[in-house]
Amino acid sequence: MHYHVVVVGGGPAGSGAGITLQKAGVSTCIVDCRTFPRTKLCGGLVTRKTKELLNTLMEDRSEADIWDAVSTGTHTRLKLYNRFELAADVRIGEAFDTVYRKDYDNYLMEYYKEKGGTLYDGMTLQSIDTQAKKLVGTKGETFTYDSLIAADGANSWVRRQLGLSIKGRLFCLEINVSRDDFDYDGVGIYFDVIGVGYAWVFPKRDVYCIGIGSVERPQTDTKAIFTDFLQRIGVRNLERYPFKGAYVPGGGFLKKPVFGDALLFAGDAAGFADPLTGEGLYWSLYSGMQAAQAVLQSPLHPAEVYVKSCLPIQQNIRSVLRTRILFHKPLYQFWLRNVGAHPDFVRYFSDHQLSRYEGEGLVRDLLRKVPKRYLSHLLKPFSKKDK
Ligand SMILES: Cc1cc2nc3c(=O)[nH]c(=O)nc-3n(C[C@H](O)[C@H](O)[C@H](O)COP(=O)(O)OP(=O)(O)OC[C@H]3O[C@@H](n4cnc5c(N)ncnc54)[C@H](O)[C@@H]3O)c2cc1C
Repeated sequence: MHYHVVVVGGGPAGSGAGITLQKAGVSTCIVDCRTFPRTKLCGGLVTRKTKELLNTLMEDRSEADIWDAVSTGTHTRLKLYNRFELAADVRIGEAFDTVYRKDYDNYLMEYYKEKGGTLYDGMTLQSIDTQAKKLVGTKGETFTYDSLIAADGANSWVRRQLGLSIKGRLFCLEINVSRDDFDYDGVGIYFDVIGVGYAWVFPKRDVYCIGIGSVERPQTDTKAIFTDFLQRIGVRNLERYPFKGAYVPGGGFLKKPVFGDALLFAGDAAGFADPLTGEGLYWSLYSGMQAAQAVLQSPLHPAEVYVKSCLPIQQNIRSVLRTRILFHKPLYQFWLRNVGAHPDFVRYFSDHQLSRYEGEGLVRDLLRKVPKRYLSHLLKPFSKKDK
C-alpha cells in the first residue's frame, strides 16, 4: 500500500495532520495500534486556544456543533489551593471545557475519515525502514510512503525504533470518580501536594477526573501521595477506583523533530507539551497541523520547513521551563499566599497565559506584563483611599 503520507498514531496530533492533508487532497493513512474508539488517560481540560484551533481545522462545522458533540462541560469557576487551603476562587473570562478523550479523539477520527482518510486501527507495527520509506506490520502488512508523520504519543514507537530519546517527563496518576462518591464545584488545582507538580479535579458530565502529576523522580512515591490526597479531599469508596498512570512530556523535546528529510515527529512523540501545566491537547493538534503544512509546502523534503515551524513551539517550552523556578519554595508559597487576595491576577493569568497563544515566549510576557498588573492590584486599595 502506498500513501503520499503515512501517519503513525491517531491522537490529536495524528488526526490534526491527517485532516489537514486530506482537505488539501493528499492521500494519507493513519495507522494506530489501538482500535477506535479508544480510551486515553487524560484530564481532558481544553483551553480556549485549543477550541479555536479545532474550530479552524473543522471550518465547515459550527463551533456549537463541534463542542455540543464533544464537550462534557464548560467551566468558569477556577479554584487554586495551597495544599488543602483555598488560595483563590475566581470566575475566569475564558471558560475551560472538558472532554472524554475517547469521544474527542473519535470525533476527530470520524471527521478525518469523512474527508476521505483511511484508518488502519488495531494494527501493530514491527519494523520501519527509513531508507526504503517502508513500514511493516506484524501480519506482514506493508506501507510505503513519501513522508511519514510520527504522532504515536509520549512513548513513541517510531522514536524508539530510530534510537531517539527525550528526557524529562511528568508522571501522572488519574481516576474518574462517580458523582456519588465526591462533591465538588469548579475546576480545582492543588499546589504543594507533590514535588514540582500539582493535583487536579476536573468535572466531566457524570464523573470527576482527579489526578496528580509531577516531574519524574525515583524517590517520589506518587501512589502513596495520591492516596493521601484523595482521602484528604474526601473521595469516598476509594477501593472502587484503581489508579491508572501515564507520562506527559515534561520539558524534554526533540531539538530537531525530524529524521532524514521526510520523517516528522508531532505532538507528544516530539515532546511538545507544556512542561508546567502538562497541557498537550493544544500542542499536539498544532504541531500535527504544522507537520501537514510542511508536507504541503515541500512534498518530498518537508523536514527543513517543519524544523523551522517548530521553533516557536520549542521557544515556548524553553520559556515555560524557566518559570518553573517560581514553583520552588519559598517563592511558591509567596505566590500562593498572595494570589487569593488578587483574584484579578489569577483571572489575568488564566485568560491570557493559559487560554491564548500569541506566539510570545511565556517568560517574556510574564516579565513584561504580569508584574505591572500585579503591582497595580497591590496598589489598588491605596489609590481607592486617596480618592
Ligand atoms: C494523566 C494525563 C492527564 C492529562 N491531562 C491533560 C489535560 O487536561 N489537557 C491537556 O491539554 N493535555 C493533557 N494531557 C496531555 C495530553 O493527553 C497529550 O499531550 C496528548 O494526548 C498528546 O496527543 P498526541 O496525539 O501527541 O498523542 P496521543 O494522544 O497519546 O496519541 C498517540 C496515538 O498513537 C497510538 N500509538 C502508540 N503507539 C503506537 C504504535 N506503536 N503504533 C501505532 N500507533 C501507536 C496510540 O494508540 C494513540 O492513539 C494529559 C496527559 C496525561 C497522561
